[in-house]
Amino acid sequence: MAKGKVYLIGAGPGDPKLITVKGLECIQKADVIVYDRLASPRLLTYARPDAELIYVGKSPDRHTLKQDEINMVLVEKALAGKNVARLKGGDPYVFGRGGEEAEKLIEYGIEFEVVPGITAGIAVPAYAGIPVTHRDFTSSLGIITGNEDPTKEDSSIDWSKISTGIGTLVFYMGMANLPHIVDKLIANGRPADTPIALIRWGTRPEQQTLVGTLADIVDKARAAEFKNPAIIIVGEVVTLRDKLSWFEKKPLFGKRVLVTRSREQASALSEKIEALGGEPWEFPTIDIAEPDDFGPMDRAIEEIEKYDWIILTSVNGVKSFFKRLNDKTKDIRDLKGIRLCAIGPKTREELEKYGLRCDFVPNEYRAEAIIEGLKNEDMSGKKVLLPRADIARKIIPDTLKELGAEVEEVVAYKTVMGAGNAQLLRDMLAEKKLQILTFTSSSTVKNFVQMLDAPNLQDLLADVTVASIGPITSNTAKELGIRVDVEAQEYTIDGLVEAILKSVQ
Ligand code: SAH
Repeated sequence: MAKGKVYLIGAGPGDPKLITVKGLECIQKADVIVYDRLASPRLLTYARPDAELIYVGKSPDRHTLKQDEINMVLVEKALAGKNVARLKGGDPYVFGRGGEEAEKLIEYGIEFEVVPGITAGIAVPAYAGIPVTHRDFTSSLGIITGNEDPTKEDSSIDWSKISTGIGTLVFYMGMANLPHIVDKLIANGRPADTPIALIRWGTRPEQQTLVGTLADIVDKARAAEFKNPAIIIVGEVVTLRDKLSWFEKKPLFGKRVLVTRSREQASALSEKIEALGGEPWEFPTIDIAEPDDFGPMDRAIEEIEKYDWIILTSVNGVKSFFKRLNDKTKDIRDLKGIRLCAIGPKTREELEKYGLRCDFVPNEYRAEAIIEGLKNEDMSGKKVLLPRADIARKIIPDTLKELGAEVEEVVAYKTVMGAGNAQLLRDMLAEKKLQILTFTSSSTVKNFVQMLDAPNLQDLLADVTVASIGPITSNTAKELGIRVDVEAQEYTIDGLVEAILKSVQ
């Protein structure tokens, strides 16, 4: 059997977007992904659905794999012909033991490639507003392990040289040894008033920065109970933070926001959250599937020319309708003369992709507004087609009928429970790793509650801010025992984001 290949990939410091294009491509193609604690779990969502995911980091429920064992996982998978993405935090060759893994692969004649990553020692200070070099302050940078016990006699670190010989010193894995590191630097001639910063979980919502001097940082760190994983950065460049801090100033900094929409629809909201400094966490509560029975829609498509109006109430509705139209070997020419109504701007944009203009889009994006608008039209005797979800509300067809229209509701798509990982979500809520929950429709709320299946729902949600896209969604939430803290004034994704922003100001 041909051997597989191993890619030693730097996953970057935490923010999943800080991986390289090449690293991401490797993840997308890999048969097996071997990852540990510092690589962002969000990167795993890019894996092929059939990829094998192997966690080799620390875990409370089993012993931590030793480096030899990790090496052998890589070897065995590659010998079995699998292409392996070995995902490591930061850069694989900066305190990542990537070199040892590569040596082992060579020993077994396994081909490998290194995909460098952005190392924490550079990226984390940057996210805390500290450039590791600066012409006015320093022109040299040292990357040092803080793991080594500095009191041991045969230290491999020459403290007398690094303490004053290098401008900026960046220590990895140094929190436990912070008092020793500081003592050594001072004892070897670095002034006690040298600025120092500790940055924990850099580039992530949990990022925390503590600034001091060599003289006082130990007390400050103790008082703040500052822990690993943290970068320690020593040098005058730390003073630039006051001026250059940017990430921590973003409005949604520190907030992890749950996005409950379907995978296909999540990205618009996720991108906005990210741009504002928050971390979107996608937990799709909904998936779109074909209807159980295409019969009614097929019959409508068969006689499509008889309709006066087609009303589309969602992007999914548009997509599924046109997919079926195409499957039935028809196209937009068969819609000539039919008037089109879209519930809101997104649905309208989706129609425009097919070269179609809408005759009516209400100002407010909900069913009631469609009705108001269509009241101005003479609907009497008009034939209206409503291709939509299996669970849609009845208000549009009912009112149109009252206006004298002949309404045909056909199921264009079915919503099913999404594939979000409920156990992970329960854990995250229990550990208070989520600050904001978003609900963008009643079904996102219903499915969320059902999927979470938590008897202590109220407790789990006690400290989170619940944001809803509008009153209908809010009502569903309240009925299910979920308190709504924030409601959008305009019932769109932008409106929702705006309401969230207001709530954090
Ligand atoms: N290969 C990694 C380093 C692994 S050693 C890299 O190139 O970044 C693990 C140490 O990296 C941690 O103890 C901590 O010092 C540092 N580290 C990694 N990610 C970090 C983060 N997001 N914030 C702060 N420190 C981080």
